[in-house]
Amino acid sequence: MNLENAKAALKKYYGYDSFRPLQAEVIQAIYDKKDVLLLMPTGGGKSVCFQIPAITMEGTCVVVSPLISLMKDQVEAMRANGIRAAFLNSSLSYHEQQSVENELYHGRLDLLYTSPEKMASQEFLPLVRASKICLFAIDEAHCISAWGHDFRPEYRQLRFLKNTFPNTPVIALTATADKLTRKDIIVQAELRNPEVFIASFDRPNLSLEVRPGRKRIEQIIEFIGKRPNQPGVIYCTARKTTESLAEKLKEAGINAAAYHAGLDERTRPKVQEDFINDRTTVICATIAFGMGIDKSNVRWVIHYNLPKNIEGYYQEIGRSGRDGADANTLLFYSAQDVMMLREFIMDGEGQNRDIQLAKLERMHQYATALICRRKILLNYFNETMLENCGNCDVCKNPPQHFDGTIAAQKALSAVSRLNEQVGTGMLVDVLRGSKSYNLVSNGYDKIKTYGAGKDIRQDDWFFYLEQLINQGLLEIAYDDHSKVKLTEASRAVLFSGQKVELVKAEILQKRKEEEEAKTQIRTKRTLERERVRDELFEHLRELRLDIAREKGVPPYIVFNDTTLEEMAAMRPTTEADLSQISGVGEQKLEAYGRAFLDAIQDFLLAKKDEGIRITGATYLETFRQYKQGATVDEIAAQRGISPLTVFSHLAHLYEKGENVNIWAFLNKAEAQRVAEAVHDMEPPIKLQEVFTKLNEELTYEKIRLGIAWYNKNKR
Ligand code: ADP
Ligand code: ZN
Repeated sequence: MNLENAKAALKKYYGYDSFRPLQAEVIQAIYDKKDVLLLMPTGGGKSVCFQIPAITMEGTCVVVSPLISLMKDQVEAMRANGIRAAFLNSSLSYHEQQSVENELYHGRLDLLYTSPEKMASQEFLPLVRASKICLFAIDEAHCISAWGHDFRPEYRQLRFLKNTFPNTPVIALTATADKLTRKDIIVQAELRNPEVFIASFDRPNLSLEVRPGRKRIEQIIEFIGKRPNQPGVIYCTARKTTESLAEKLKEAGINAAAYHAGLDERTRPKVQEDFINDRTTVICATIAFGMGIDKSNVRWVIHYNLPKNIEGYYQEIGRSGRDGADANTLLFYSAQDVMMLREFIMDGEGQNRDIQLAKLERMHQYATALICRRKILLNYFNETMLENCGNCDVCKNPPQHFDGTIAAQKALSAVSRLNEQVGTGMLVDVLRGSKSYNLVSNGYDKIKTYGAGKDIRQDDWFFYLEQLINQGLLEIAYDDHSKVKLTEASRAVLFSGQKVELVKAEILQKRKEEEEAKTQIRTKRTLERERVRDELFEHLRELRLDIAREKGVPPYIVFNDTTLEEMAAMRPTTEADLSQISGVGEQKLEAYGRAFLDAIQDFLLAKKDEGIRITGATYLETFRQYKQGATVDEIAAQRGISPLTVFSHLAHLYEKGENVNIWAFLNKAEAQRVAEAVHDMEPPIKLQEVFTKLNEELTYEKIRLGIAWYNKNKR
């Protein structure tokens, strides 16, 4: 087996032209019968690394995976690509199990997915021994390590694999493993002298953004409004929040649902399935959501609350954009969230408390960072990035500092004069000189700093207070009704004139404007091409949904978003062109090719009728009439073009692989004569030259078709 076979399989079964980073190396190692440990981020393309060997090598690859709910989807996706895959787990009936086991025994499977329990069971082992196995793949391999975040004792038993089948290579795959876990996986799985591959954890197609956690719901509704029909997930800490948020979104006309572990047995899978099948667009969920789903076209992820640590955060945002197309992520940050999480940790079991606090602190630093956020993320995973990423909010709008000493003094002094008895809301009201009943009745309008901060907008004050809290100049007493208190460090600012640097609040405004400007540019796109592309994409999306419903599979199994985007941009009109699109393998070309080509052709023709000029449409019009049985002369008359032009259209279509019967217009011997004549001529070939070369014995029409025949079959 060599990489040429692997590459051919990649094209044939997946419709991809080239390997992603590390895939070829991993596959080669497996061909060399080596054990492999592969670390790759979610969406990096781990599956291909064992699926291609499974398809190309003799025997079956047995995949151990902890998530039974995922197996069915994964197997379905492979079958849609024409790969002989099956799964075995407790969800199958006795007879179904029998039938799968039979297929394994008779060597009729490329891949078999199974649970660790099943793998280690006494009944299963003899069958595995009796069958031809080319590779064992341990998916989510961090589950084997107690150091990992998702230890599963049943995974421990997998060490028997290497003992029992010392000559069969084992590949362990995971998306999350620090150094310790990495080493532990090798030890626990007893991998022999494994090759370790660590892919970059960078996911450049995910944009990163952090916003202050104020008026979150309004912001979310606006965010979603700009992304109609795009599937997305909003992660919340509390179950209650998922429900209330989903309600509010629904009131705003958004197709949303809540998901958390407390839902009953029937509702939970349904919510999940509706999302996978694009029936529900937005899910408001606790982090329980996402583990068991394999949906590649999640276009955005919002964190309503701050996650506990960067691992969790990265994994959650990583569930968007798995198809490689652009995806947006947005994190809401508030100091209050940090405090609450800190309390959770302090109230929790003593174990690892310090580690948890330290991890929370890193998360906090990320959220309040003033340098490229991706740098911080990758740094966390021990990767160094030299350039700024250009796809995070800080890169797009670098913060500007100013001397905020006076503003800070005003705020601190107000806190002091209010005897540290009010929360941030009242504090801002006092600073801005509000006349609210509550304020006046407490006599706060009598203090010296009342109205001293009128010149700063309300939202901006919150932004500055947040920064003062982060700088340790103020503190929130969560155990005392969230009142704002002074700290040790406050004194230096109040009494010794210590300078305070703040990030200008205008940046919030600027970021917002930037976003709006972008939308405007988008709506102002007068370029017909892009409008057509977007429209065609929607059109194809609908077709995909129809097909998916009819077949009872999730839409992304038909084609994923990247593939549809490329179709909309390239507008293939022949099978040959369509098969060039990334994600269109043989099986899918066969199953859905015609439907998509027809949709594209109809769409282009409709556009043409609207008077929009589109390359290729003229061929299509000829082809449409030809297919309806019109003669060349009829087409020419009907379209007001010359018969020779019609012939040239037909020749072009034939060359492109369309079903045009050129033999109705010339015979093989004539074609052969044309071929001989043009054989040593350099394209572009002039019909007239060939005409002369053939002693003017063949018509231009025949020559045109003869050249097409030569180009398609001989060149
Ligand atoms: P992981 O298991 O690492 O999360 P997947 O194996 O599910 O990632 O791959 C993520 C997506 O990338 C899938 O849609 C997959 O088809 C696609 N993909 C994988 N390899 C390639 C490749 N070489 N070229 C293009 N797309 C690829
Ligand atoms: Zn950046």
